[in-house]
Formats: sequence, structure tokens, C-alpha cells
Amino acid sequence: MRVAVVGAGAMGCLYGGHLAEAGVDVSLVDVWREHVDAINAKGLHITGVSGDRVVRVPATNNPETVGEVDLVLLFVKSYDTAQAVKGSRPLIGGDTKVLTLQNGLGNLEAITETVGAGRVLGGTTSHGSTLVGPREIRHAGEGPTLIGALEISSRSTAEKVADTFNGAGLRTRISDDVRGDIWGKVLVNLGINALTALTGLRNGQLLEVPELRRLMRIAVEEGVRVAEEDGVDLGSLDHVAHVYDVAEATGANHSSMLQDVDRGRRTEIDALNGEVVGLGEKLGVETPVNRALTALVKGLEHRSSL
Ligand code: NAD
Repeated sequence: MRVAVVGAGAMGCLYGGHLAEAGVDVSLVDVWREHVDAINAKGLHITGVSGDRVVRVPATNNPETVGEVDLVLLFVKSYDTAQAVKGSRPLIGGDTKVLTLQNGLGNLEAITETVGAGRVLGGTTSHGSTLVGPREIRHAGEGPTLIGALEISSRSTAEKVADTFNGAGLRTRISDDVRGDIWGKVLVNLGINALTALTGLRNGQLLEVPELRRLMRIAVEEGVRVAEEDGVDLGSLDHVAHVYDVAEATGANHSSMLQDVDRGRRTEIDALNGEVVGLGEKLGVETPVNRALTALVKGLEHRSSL
């Protein structure tokens, strides 16, 4: 299987690095020239929970030099998805599938708009990774990957991708409900990310403040109502209890949104709380807490841009 990872940041390098180590024909595609040049010159340096090593993997700014592949693995931030898929055209031939394991809502739709639903695979990842600098990532935590197809015709490809990932040490299962799984992860992000970004607290510290626990609960409950109104099957999980459990289990972590705010970078608020607000408006579901969280995080982003 020929693979191109588009968006070779923290997660793209993690997956691309594991695949290259397992002998998979994989190329990294990224717009960041210094990073690409450093990977080609000295190799990709991975540290953290899966060990400290340098992995040789080709990287490029120009997808035309890679040509058509079997799988495009998209790992840009959600606000770059539409542009990155359009830029991936040279990678996409008759049988190519595009897989997103990004966080947030709207990525499946943005990819579908360009390549059609029959080519789209989606899912979630519970790995954590941090971009330390050019050619350098830290593998912060391990967890399962879920992959599924939007259309039944692509299910066998999803199974092949899962086999390839499992062969590379990336523990992967097949999902029969990609949308439901993505929403499940979004609900956790709704309860944790914006509140940690706004307060500067670690995930677990949110639980120590009763007023913040209450906001976590309401943000998740609003998300559940929007998802249900949108026809998403959220299963039998108690999503409020689950977000508290995740905050506790990842208690020492700085959420990705807090890290983005600390570094003065744009956040994925639009694809998380912002999408819930927008969908809620369309579906007639009130989302006052998610609306306030979205506005406040946008205020933080604005402050960084001044
Ligand atoms: P990142 O910022 O580290 O990497 C994104 C990369 O995309 C950057 O290197 C950037 O230069 C590149 N890029 C931007 N536009 C591009 C384009 N048009 N073409 C090619 N490359 C382009 O982000 P990340 O932390 O790896 O996150 C990627 C996605 O995975 C996000 O949706 C995030 O929420 C999700 N995710 C991240 C983690 C994590 O621990 N980092 C965990 C789970 C899910």
C-alpha cells in the first residue's frame, strides 16, 4: 500500500514514522519547508512513549513528486482541511481513498465535497503527539485508532488500512459508525478543550472547581442534544460521566487547545464548540454555553493576533 501523509505535523509524523519503520511505502507532504528539509537531511526524530529513534522517511512540499497513492492520510488542523484536500489532487487516482483521523466536525464533509463520499474513510485516534520543532516530535500517549468507511464499497479498503496500521504497531479497529465515533470524541473535546484554554488549567484541574464541572456538563449536554437532533447514534454511554473520567485519566495533560493558545496559534474552536453552535442554530437547539465558550476562545485568538 502506497501512503501519503498530508499534514506532517505532530500526528502526521507519528503515523508516517510508524508506517515507514514497518517498511510501508510512505511519503510525508507538508507546506512547512524548514521541517521538510530537516526530515530529508537528518531523518524524523521521534521521542516519547514509543522510544527514542530517528526514522528515515521521504518528505516533500510538492505532492506532484509523490504521484498517485492508495491512501492519503490527512492530518492537517481542521481549518486547513479544505485547502489541503484540494492541494492533494496529484496524489489522488482512480482507487485512492482519503482517511481523516482529525478532531472536530466538518472534516468528513469538506473532504467529501472535493473527492466524493465513496473515497472517504474516517475515524478517531487516541494517540497524543507534540510537535517539538523541525523534524522532531514527542509521542505523548498511546491509544486505539478507529477506522471506518462512509460507504460500504470502501469497507474492504478500511480493513486493509487497519491491517497495515496494526502491522506498524498502531493498534486499530474497524468502526461501523464513523460519524458516531467522531461525535463521541467531539463531546469529550467540548467538555475539556475550551475550558482549559480559557483558564490555563490542566485537564484534571477542571474537576476541582465545581463551577467548571458544571460548565463541562452543560457543554456536553448541549452537544448531545445537537447530535441526537442531527440523527447521530451516540450509543448508550453516559457522555457527561465519560468526559469527567477522561479529564481525570488525562489529569496532568495540557489540552491541545491550551497548547495552541499558549503558543499564540489558531485553535480548532470552529470545528468543535463552533460547529455545535452552528448546527444547533440549523436544528433549533439552544447552545448558550458552547456559544459563550466559542466567543471567549475567539477573543483569546484575537488577543494573540494583536
Ligand atoms: P500540527 O499543527 O502539529 O500539524 C499540522 C501540519 O499540517 C503542520 O505541519 C502544517 O504545516 C501542515 N499543513 C497545514 N496546511 C497544509 C496543507 N495545505 N498541506 C499540507 N500540510 C499542511 O497538528 P496536529 O497536532 O498533528 O493535529 C492534526 C489533527 O489531528 C488535528 O485535527 C488535531 O485535532 C488532531 N489530533 C491531534 C492530536 C495530538 O495529540 N496532536 C491527537 C488527536 C487528534
